[in-house]
Amino acid sequence: MHQRITIRKDKLRAMHNRHPWIFSGAVAHMPQQIENGEIVEIADQDDHLIGYGFYAPGNQIVCRVFEYTHEPMPVHTAAYWHQKIAGAYALRKAYVQSPETNAYRLLHAEGDFFPGVIADVYNDIVSVQLLIKGTERIREHIVSGLQALGFRYIYNKSKAVSERLEGVRDQQGWMTADERDVRTEILENGVKFWVNVETGQKTGFFLDQRDARALVGHYSRGNKVLNTFSYSGGFSMYALQAGAELVHSVDSSQKAVDLCTENVLLNGFAPERHEGICADVFDFLKKMDTPYDVIILDPPAFAKTAKALPNATRGYKELNLMAFRKIKPGGILFTFSCSQKVDRDLFRKIVFGAAADAKRNVRILHQTTQPNCHPVNIFHPENEYLKGLVLQVE
Ligand code: SAH
Repeated sequence: MHQRITIRKDKLRAMHNRHPWIFSGAVAHMPQQIENGEIVEIADQDDHLIGYGFYAPGNQIVCRVFEYTHEPMPVHTAAYWHQKIAGAYALRKAYVQSPETNAYRLLHAEGDFFPGVIADVYNDIVSVQLLIKGTERIREHIVSGLQALGFRYIYNKSKAVSERLEGVRDQQGWMTADERDVRTEILENGVKFWVNVETGQKTGFFLDQRDARALVGHYSRGNKVLNTFSYSGGFSMYALQAGAELVHSVDSSQKAVDLCTENVLLNGFAPERHEGICADVFDFLKKMDTPYDVIILDPPAFAKTAKALPNATRGYKELNLMAFRKIKPGGILFTFSCSQKVDRDLFRKIVFGAAADAKRNVRILHQTTQPNCHPVNIFHPENEYLKGLVLQVE
C-alpha cells in the first residue's frame, strides 16, 4: 500500500497548473506514520489520483511532485527512474553533447521533472547533488540509471549544498565501485578546462554560462578584456580563443586564480596574453585605470534569501556603476545575476539605475539566460535563475 496525501479542494488549482511544490497548508490529510523522503500518492478529496511526490514532513514545502498522472505508475521500481533519467539524457544527447562539448547538466531538478537532484557531466564523470531526502532514498536507482547510460564514474557532491539539505547526510565521494582521478579535462564549445569534482565549486564547474561565454568570444577579438569573478576562467578562455589581445581575470580566491592560469596553459594560449589577479572585485574596480573594451561581471548570488534583497540590490548597483564609469567608450559590458530572488525585471531596473547614475548612453544588445541543459519547467518559473545583459556603452 502506498501512503497517500489528500489535497484540499480550494487548493487544487496549483495541482491543475502542475506546480511541482505542495505547501503544507494545501494538504487536507497526511499519513500518520511516514518517514522523511518517502514517496506518496497525491489525491483529491474524492480520492482520485493526481500524482506522486517526495514527502517531507514538517517542511514548508511538504511534498515535491515528480509525476502528474491519473493512472497508477510503478514509481517504486528502478525501471521508472531509469526511464526518467534516460528522457533527460535524450535531450542532451540530441542537442547539447557534441565533439566540441562533453560537459553539461544532465539532471536539472524540477526543470527535468525530477525535484531534488542535480547531475552534471564532466567528460566521463557525473557529479551528483542530492538536495532532499527523497532523492537520497532512491540514490541506488539514480546511480544505476546513470550507469545504464554508460557513465562509469559517479561522484556524490551533496556536501557542497548543505545549507539546502533537508536532513540529507553530509557526504562526498564516489557512489560507484569504479573510481578514478577526481580531476578530469572537459571540452566546452571546443575550449578546454580542468575540472576537479572533489575540490571544485558547486559540482566542479559553472556549466550555466556556456551560451554567454560563446557571446563573449564574439565580442573579444583584438580587444582588452576584463573578466571579474573569474573562477576557472570560463569567459577568459573564450575571449583568448577568439583572439583577445589581453585578458585580465580577477577573483578573490588564489586557488581560483591558479586554476584559471592552468586553463590558459591547457589550451596552449601564450601566457603573456593573460594575467590572473587575486583581488576583491569591488576594490579592483575602484582602483583600476585600464580602459577595457569588454568587461564581464559574473558575481556569485548576492541574494540567497528575500531578506538579503536590499543589500544584494546595492551590491549589483555599485558593481555595475563602477563598470559603466570606467569602460572604454563603445565598450561592451556583460553583466549577470544568478540570484533567484532578483528577477529579470528587477535586475534590468538595477542596471538601468547604474547607467543613469554613470550618465552614459547604453544599448541592450542581448539578453541571456541559462543554456538548454538547464531547462525551465514551464510550470515552475522559479527555476529560471540566471539573467544576463550584454550592453554597449557609448
Ligand atoms: N564567472 C565564473 C563563475 C563565478 S563563481 C565562471 O564562468 O565560471 C563566483 C566567483 O567569485 C568565485 O570564484 C569566488 O571566489 C569569487 N568571488 C566572490 N566574491 C568575490 C569578490 N568580492 N571579489 C572577487 N571575487 C569574488
